[in-house]
Amino acid sequence: MKLVLSFRTQLMLLNTLLVILIYAVAAFFIYAFMKNRIESVELEKLQEQVSTVSTVVYKSGGDYNDWYHLGDQKPFLIMEDWKVSYQTTAWKDLNFPDKLTPGDFNNKSLKTYSAEQHNYLVKINFVRTGIDTMHNFQVVVAMENTEALESVEKLARSLVLGIPLILILAVAGSFFLSNHAMGPVKLLRIKAQQISAQSLSLRLPVINARDDIGQLTIVFNDLLTRLEYTFEQLKRFTADASHEFRTPLTSIRSTGQVALKNAGNVNDFKDAVASMLEDTDRLANLIHDLLQLTRHDAGRLKIDFSKEDLVSHINSVIEELKILAEEKGITISFLHPDTIRLHINPAYFKQAIRNILHNAIKYTPGSGLIEIQLRQEESGIIRIDIKDNGPGIPPDLREKVFERFFRIDNARSASVGGSGLGLAIAKQGIEINNGNIKFVDSNRGATCRMVFPANSAQDDSSAI
Ligand code: ADP
Repeated sequence: MKLVLSFRTQLMLLNTLLVILIYAVAAFFIYAFMKNRIESVELEKLQEQVSTVSTVVYKSGGDYNDWYHLGDQKPFLIMEDWKVSYQTTAWKDLNFPDKLTPGDFNNKSLKTYSAEQHNYLVKINFVRTGIDTMHNFQVVVAMENTEALESVEKLARSLVLGIPLILILAVAGSFFLSNHAMGPVKLLRIKAQQISAQSLSLRLPVINARDDIGQLTIVFNDLLTRLEYTFEQLKRFTADASHEFRTPLTSIRSTGQVALKNAGNVNDFKDAVASMLEDTDRLANLIHDLLQLTRHDAGRLKIDFSKEDLVSHINSVIEELKILAEEKGITISFLHPDTIRLHINPAYFKQAIRNILHNAIKYTPGSGLIEIQLRQEESGIIRIDIKDNGPGIPPDLREKVFERFFRIDNARSASVGGSGLGLAIAKQGIEINNGNIKFVDSNRGATCRMVFPANSAQDDSSAI
């Protein structure tokens, strides 16, 4: 089973480990530095003694009679060609070996002996004397370690003994630190628990915007804002959709009831059925539009793109709707270059043009004029303007009209058969084709402008 530690425990462990590691490294360096300094002082002293004895050996050439002045209480030993020729009483008293070989000394000619609970540092020196014959002497001098060197050892022991204490302090300190560090997280957790679908307007408190937790809180709050907006839209969409469904259904129901109650002859029934069929068509259109919008929202559509001639696609939409315009005596003019090719999905593109043109026809009074202009600017940007001479759209509502179910004048819209989804679908179609759409200022009526960036080339097939 994998051991999963809480963040707080991990923080504590890491802290403790770090403190112990820092302590161990610092202790090691303090110990090594002190030992090195004191040892070098000791060695200097020992070297002095070695030099004194060596000088005497050199001068006397092995005549030990003169040596009494060196004192017997200093532990040293003289060997001639590795055979002991002289040792002091102090050397003997300490029970130091009286047979030494070259292998007994390390490369610094140093050695340590212990006697009477004290450590002795022992150094060997090689002395060559004689004029006619060469004599090789080995001078071995021992010196008791001073208190300074022993106190370094004591220091080392205390440093090791300090580890448990440091461990306790480190754990306690880390516990306090991690508690302190996790304080804001606990507060955020409590606040976040209070946020539900009903209270999406609540935000988490940003304690310090500059630290990581503060940054995370800001990101989380932004996410909440987006969620709240989407949630609101969804709520409004559901309410609007229910309302849209209820209107034709109520109409069908009341037409049926009136017909059953009052209609006396076949013609009355025919009228009632015709009205009911009209409402059914409205319902079917509404369902079709809703499905189209939501299916794309759910991201389940695979959309193909290809290089198409915009002129011919706009012409074909005009052809489709010409009859509606003619019924109202509306003239449609289309100004365009020979051809403009762009990577688009033709179905979505035509759907958008169809909805805009249909609106222009719907909201333009009889004998009006609709002007369509398609052009490519020098920068490569492609613009399509569809301009009518109807009542126009007030500037403050030009963004809102693209929202689902939004209608400026419900009565007028309903009278022309609008569901309030046409512009939302048009916007979706244009954005799928990488363009943008808006209503712009014009001296009369409404002017809808669609803009496609230069080289808005898309992959021939891409899933959205
Ligand atoms: P609808 O199906 O009601 O026409 P749309 O989404 O197509 O819904 O349009 C939203 C609203 O924008 C319409 O109800 C109408 O009030 C307004 N509108 C759209 N196009 C025009 C236009 N060309 N002239 C004036 N008003 C328009």
